[in-house]
Amino acid sequence: QQEEWAKLKDEPTFSKDGEQVELVANIGTPEDVEGVLSNGGEGVGLYRTEFLYMGKSELPSEEEQFEAYKSVLESMDGKPVVVRTLDVGGDKELSYLNMPKELNPFLGFRAIRFCLENEDVFRPQLRALLRASVYGNLKIMFPMIATLEEFRQSKAILMDEKDALKAEDINVSDDIEVGIMVEIPSTAVTAKQFAKEVDFFSIGTNDLIQYTMAADRMNEQVSYLYQPYHPAILNLVNNVIEAAHKEGKWAGMCGEMAGDPIAIPILLGLGLDEFSMSATSILPARTQIRNLSKKELASFKETILSMGTAEEVVAFIKEKTE
Ligand code: PEP
Ligand code: MG
Repeated sequence: QQEEWAKLKDEPTFSKDGEQVELVANIGTPEDVEGVLSNGGEGVGLYRTEFLYMGKSELPSEEEQFEAYKSVLESMDGKPVVVRTLDVGGDKELSYLNMPKELNPFLGFRAIRFCLENEDVFRPQLRALLRASVYGNLKIMFPMIATLEEFRQSKAILMDEKDALKAEDINVSDDIEVGIMVEIPSTAVTAKQFAKEVDFFSIGTNDLIQYTMAADRMNEQVSYLYQPYHPAILNLVNNVIEAAHKEGKWAGMCGEMAGDPIAIPILLGLGLDEFSMSATSILPARTQIRNLSKKELASFKETILSMGTAEEVVAFIKEKTE
């Protein structure tokens, strides 16, 4: 099996019926890029930049960030790299930022909410990203977007920094796609409205499931509710993909679900364009997709989306893909 996987390392990803999808990787540091390339990743679908900020006593400088982003973009050599702006708060606390203690950190002051209130933290990251953009194929993604205003405000700050850099005669790419993570139900439900303004969506199922099912992803007592195949989740995912495609945009997924062998046939049938997973899942996923017919899976869409329980969905998809 290892041998079969290795043969597919430098191959694009096609389904049995000739439909192409993109298999990319989640990374946390520039050193992770090596594993992405050796495992046949077609790009980076989620660069979690939190690691630059963690385990230190102060904020990383713009320069330090620039070097990290540039290194990833250069090593990926023109392949797409989706960088997510800082997602602190929730379970990720930075001692030097003096973040308030909260009763419900996952429902609180995290990610884009924090960045929009702390532009002295947000702007240097955006500047570092914009400066690095000329070294590869950069896409910028904002986390935890709940409203259109948050996206518009974030993009306006990004454009403001871009203008400022240009005024300083610093080169910035003009082809940077700007997208959002869909990890809050409000955004999944109103994807149609977002799709007119964003360049792409990346569905963050780790959070989307916890917020949709109202089940803390760290709490074992409610872990039975953490159901990726629940029809509620699948209908939200479908809504996002349909909304993107209607506007000619692409939709990816960077939560754990994207690399799950049971979810993959369902997501392929729903029309997901990009699957971002841990590097070691890429070759198994490519092998799996080569044996799946996207058209056949798409024909099950209405049936699956109308099912009552996750259990029914799993039983059905297992039967159809055996
Ligand atoms: C997600 O929520 O699915 C996601 C990819 O983000 P994180 O796991 O970093 O919260
Ligand atoms: Mg998340």
